[in-house]
Amino acid sequence: MSDDDDTGGGGRRAELAAGLTRVRARIDDACAAAGRDRDTVTMIAVTKTYPAGDVLALVGLGVHDVGENRDQEAAGKAAEVAAAGGRPRWHFVGRLQRNKCRSVVRYADVVHSLDSVRLVGALDTAASAYRDRPLDVLVQVSIDGDPARGGTVAGSADPDTGLGPVADAVAKAQGLRLTGLMAVAPLGWEPERAFARLAQVSSALRVDHPEATELSAGMSGDLETAIGHGATQVRVGSALLGMRPTLR
Ligand SMILES: *Cc1c(COP(=O)(O)O)cnc(C)c1O
Repeated sequence: MSDDDDTGGGGRRAELAAGLTRVRARIDDACAAAGRDRDTVTMIAVTKTYPAGDVLALVGLGVHDVGENRDQEAAGKAAEVAAAGGRPRWHFVGRLQRNKCRSVVRYADVVHSLDSVRLVGALDTAASAYRDRPLDVLVQVSIDGDPARGGTVAGSADPDTGLGPVADAVAKAQGLRLTGLMAVAPLGWEPERAFARLAQVSSALRVDHPEATELSAGMSGDLETAIGHGATQVRVGSALLGMRPTLR
């Protein structure tokens, strides 16, 4: 605990500022090492398990993009942040369930975790009903081809979970806009191998969908490797906010 927890969270703000400085330096260095312009990479602060006050502090420190992985937590937090005047872009990065789509489309600006044609239908219906402009969507890819933990499978013609069928369905959906791919490095895989494969999947997808230029990859432990393989969005939680109290 910091010294001034009882004087309104100034200690927490300083902690977040220090975390932000460290993470921004890592992204700067990774971009320099990869010969990329710094402004080609967006940092998303993943604030799951942390309170709306932390989101507001981060917004005050210049963070524009915030990520959450559970609808119930995110909906309340987004409302609290909005009521206090915070206006970040909200990214939904967690496993999406069809019965949550109607809620998610009301606060999320971007959904990263679309991974089935059935879900495309539900999200499109909700987005068309509740939003006045299309929702930006990334299709999640399962890099090891095992959809158990979420993600479509590249090269699969499965009509519900193949990457091609899902990307085609998003591209046709009136309420959605296909912007790219998202992935998490599989457990037990070297990030190098995982993100190299993801980069191949991304360039293959852009043959049919040239608009799908975004690549959401890299977290606290592997963001440098992801940037080296073309990530345009890194999703950073613990390196910025601290270790989460519970495992999610
Ligand atoms: C929690 C989470 C992150 C952030 O993970 P850290 O290792 O804490 O940086 C990124 N992406 C997704 C999908 C997450 O659920």
